[in-house]
Amino acid sequence: MIPYGRHEISSTDIDAVIAVLRSDYLTQGPLVPRFEEEVARKTGAHFACAVNSATSALHMACMALELGPGDALWTSPITFVASANCALYCGADVDFVDIDPLTWNLCPDQLKKKLESARKVGRLPKIVVVVHFAGRSCDMAAIHELGQQYGFRIIEDAAHAIGGSHQNQAIGSCRFSDITVFSFHPVKIITTAEGGMALTNDPALAEKLALLRSHGITRDPEQMTGEADGPWYYQQIALGYNYRMTDLHAALGLSQLETLEARINRRHELRANYDEALADMSLQLPAPDQHGRSALHLYPVLLAGREVGARRREVFEGLRSAGVGVNVHYIPVHLQPYYRDLGFLPGQFPVAEDYYRRAITLPLFPGLTERQQDVVVSTLAAALSV
Ligand SMILES: *Cc1c(COP(=O)(O)O)cnc(C)c1O
Repeated sequence: MIPYGRHEISSTDIDAVIAVLRSDYLTQGPLVPRFEEEVARKTGAHFACAVNSATSALHMACMALELGPGDALWTSPITFVASANCALYCGADVDFVDIDPLTWNLCPDQLKKKLESARKVGRLPKIVVVVHFAGRSCDMAAIHELGQQYGFRIIEDAAHAIGGSHQNQAIGSCRFSDITVFSFHPVKIITTAEGGMALTNDPALAEKLALLRSHGITRDPEQMTGEADGPWYYQQIALGYNYRMTDLHAALGLSQLETLEARINRRHELRANYDEALADMSLQLPAPDQHGRSALHLYPVLLAGREVGARRREVFEGLRSAGVGVNVHYIPVHLQPYYRDLGFLPGQFPVAEDYYRRAITLPLFPGLTERQQDVVVSTLAAALSV
């Protein structure tokens, strides 16, 4: 089976992890801060906080921005559930903004319309989580301007997008957002096995993120109430979690980071091959890059025509049974049973739902060979012609 995505671990990566196993620190040694510094340097963000998953980073980001009961968080329905769940962890409400039919990202025009009606009923969101779907940046300038106008904070869920850019700046620079979150899960662009990071340019937010990552405990006398009892002393000044990354994971991340550009370049080569080979099939392909370079985490194609739901299933099963490991990204979050129980209904986000009925994600990862790509293309052509 040709998988839809696959991590790549080099012998250099393996050596880096083994070196940690032989060192004095398995967890809180020098490599976590070094990994944070490197990601901050590459993205231009001022502060970085490495954690054990992007889900943890999203939760901390919402807490740092003081999301709580009575508040609302909005995000895209075409994302992994974690982009929305972070609001529920904080006791806040979730709502969604429909996607753009070409970029498949949260649509700034739809956002504007929804903000206008929300203002009338006094239900403006406190946070909007934008998702750089498949590695393509959202229209951040437009969304940031709406944020200024309507007073919401912005979290970039860049789980797909490390290595991508927007208006000549690396995704993660936080130029148009409060916090950006990366994931280092193995299917993503680079991996630490499990892992994530939250980036920000705001020192106060950075301080809160660091506290939340580790139980709300500080050893910094400046942050304490009153005097320290002695050199052993620490204080818990907030309710945090254990969301820490280990040095083992950071070693892998640092080593993987060295190959980030090469990975993105390879993804762009493969994308160009697909774009050319699939151009004449009756498919909607990913739109060309605009305002920046996509990190190309995914290559979804959409089937054309009506009554497409059953047909998509046939094509999908045809590909799978021929050994092509296709996938579907994503089932709209509002249609998940948990969200249906919160009151969401089919038909509420029609562009997202139409996208979902048509979408098939083709294999795309740096180790995919041209020969495997030919197999994907010819198998897809055969499946479409049935
Ligand atoms: C993978 C993913 C996450 C969660 O990442 P983890 O590191 O697995 O917690 C969040 N949002 C999006 C869009 C993702 O694709």
